[in-house]
Amino acid sequence: MFPGSLGHSVIGNALDRKKFNLEIINLHDFGIDQRGSIDDEPFGGGPGMVIRPDVVENAMASISKKSNKISKVFLTPSGKKLTQNKLQELSKYEEIIILCGRFEGVDQRAIEILGFQEISIGDYVLSGGEIAAQVLVEGCIRLIPGVLGQPQSLLEESFSNNLLEYPHYTRPKVWEDRKGVKHGVPDVLISRHHEKIETWRKTRRLRKLNT
Ligand code: SAH
Repeated sequence: MFPGSLGHSVIGNALDRKKFNLEIINLHDFGIDQRGSIDDEPFGGGPGMVIRPDVVENAMASISKKSNKISKVFLTPSGKKLTQNKLQELSKYEEIIILCGRFEGVDQRAIEILGFQEISIGDYVLSGGEIAAQVLVEGCIRLIPGVLGQPQSLLEESFSNNLLEYPHYTRPKVWEDRKGVKHGVPDVLISRHHEKIETWRKTRRLRKLNT
């Protein structure tokens, strides 16, 4: 599943340019038996399987740490919801160890004893943490200086300064839709009047907050 979406476009380019590095660890390499088993039934009963804490610990011990600025994240729908602020915070770490769950999840002792913070990418349930990990990594990596072609994109985008982004328009100036109806773009944007454009954009950013 990796690099998956992280191997494409802006982020894939950053990966090629070694702006960041991905190390994939397969928990099955740390399975407790010949078959590489990593899970067992939940104590207390109930459906599904749970990933064992000793497997996670052994996998963690195999990681050669390259810095002291490491963050550990366990992805789980019951974690704290991921925000742009959280991504800003995480993007400042040299390394992030991301634990992806499968089945019912991971033994809670592994999460607590090994010091993982629990993060959710939204109020819905996926069947594994891998896609969630790609969401988190993509969100962090684009914040690293030199990753985006135009760094000013980060300044006015949604969630910066607690605002959302203003709407965008491009060519054609007058777009005739399939029903023959013509749609222009807001006059102010073709006025070349920078101050007015700025004010218009600012109001639109504020207005979006109230809808
Ligand atoms: N039994 C769990 C869901 C397990 S889903 C519960 O009810 O909370 C299996 C794995 O997918 C999880 O361990 C987690 O790593 C990942 N996952 C699923 N949904 C997620 C979400 N919204 N955010 C982050 N990770 C998620």
